[in-house]
Amino acid sequence: MERLIAEPSAEDIVQALLEETGNTSPPTDPMTMAGYLNLRVEGYDDDNQFGLVNSRINAFLWPSKRIIGVHKKLKPKQRRFSILHEIGHFVLPGHLQSREHDEKVEDGRDNLSPWAQNILEREANQFAADCLFQLDGLEKVLRASDLSWGNIVRASELFDASIEATSRRWVERTETECGLVVFNPLDRGRPGSALGVMYTIVSRSFKQRNFAQIQPGQQFDTRSPIYRYFYGQEYLGDTPRITISVQKGTEDYGEFSMELFSNSYRLFGLLTPSN
Ligand SMILES: [Zn+2]
Repeated sequence: MERLIAEPSAEDIVQALLEETGNTSPPTDPMTMAGYLNLRVEGYDDDNQFGLVNSRINAFLWPSKRIIGVHKKLKPKQRRFSILHEIGHFVLPGHLQSREHDEKVEDGRDNLSPWAQNILEREANQFAADCLFQLDGLEKVLRASDLSWGNIVRASELFDASIEATSRRWVERTETECGLVVFNPLDRGRPGSALGVMYTIVSRSFKQRNFAQIQPGQQFDTRSPIYRYFYGQEYLGDTPRITISVQKGTEDYGEFSMELFSNSYRLFGLLTPSN
């Protein structure tokens, strides 16, 4: 009989690595995973150290030397995510095969951003998130909790993940009708810069009943409570919440409630239908 050999899925690989390294309850320890694969994690902050093309990159993988480099500027949670991302490049099928033997995988400053990435980058980010949240680990938490920033913050502490990574995954995995809208200052060099919509992620049920995206680039200035909340000019209560209306062309999707959260770098809005 003919035989075909199935390739393990990315989830199979994550599952095996988590089990082999004893990461069966949160938080995941990326260092045990790197160690298990004989990868050494090194910090760097200048080009010459590892012959980097650009020392401003966040992280790199040097497979032939079995080194993962992480920039010293990274905060602890970014560092955890970056190490897992590089491990993803190391173990995922097809990530190293097309490269020269001694070539490094150098990951750009924006590699943690979710848009405009190539497939390998998206796969490595997905791998990192699957390791961080131990596959369906977050689903177990979110099934037992209401959607709120308070609960997302608690989950982010449990998994030692950033608020952004936790809220994205929460919205991706929940059955609740909800969305996440991420805003950032359009010009970081200018104090009080207007905020713009960066990206939107919505749950499956939200997409079925409403829409998939808020148009990126829309600006909010001092006339908007979103802006005033971000810059500390308006107090919106312990659970800051605003009502917004969403339109698409001439269609009106009606009113939504948005609970706001700021990590002072970006502003996040949890979108739910208004009752
Ligand atoms: Zn990468």
